[in-house]
Amino acid sequence: MINELKKILPDIKFLPGERFAWSPGERQITYPKDQEHDNSQWALLHETGHAVLGHTNYKTDLELLKMEVAAWEKAKELAKDLGLKINEEHIQLCLDSYRDWLHRRSTCPSCATSSIQNDLSNTYQCFNCHARWQVSPSRFCRAYRTRKESQEPVFI
Ligand SMILES: [Zn+2]
Ligand SMILES: [Zn+2]
Repeated sequence: MINELKKILPDIKFLPGERFAWSPGERQITYPKDQEHDNSQWALLHETGHAVLGHTNYKTDLELLKMEVAAWEKAKELAKDLGLKINEEHIQLCLDSYRDWLHRRSTCPSCATSSIQNDLSNTYQCFNCHARWQVSPSRFCRAYRTRKESQEPVFI
């Protein structure tokens, strides 16, 4: 499938690497060499979705979530072109873990009110009690990576 994707997207580099990732700076997709499972094909199509859509950066967690949704939509189109089908449940599971992650970050650590992020920073402010807290910078596709978010929200 890598070769087919290279044909469709000659300006994007596909390189074997540690894990699935899209690097907008280098316009490069990395993928683990072991490609036996359907899941890994889907993950590769998802990364390619980011690449095709030209996703580079985002200002807020919510914007990132929207890009993740868009990348899956594009991945489904690519799959169709290649005669494949991505399991819808898999997509929803990936997006759900993203939604949970967003929910955790946006919930006030002090009074549990759901809040919105300030633009251009990794800070949130509570509508209710006006507490402010900082979260770690977000990254593409972190939801289905195994690495657990270690940082707790920090009050500022
Ligand atoms: Zn609060
Ligand atoms: Zn993604």
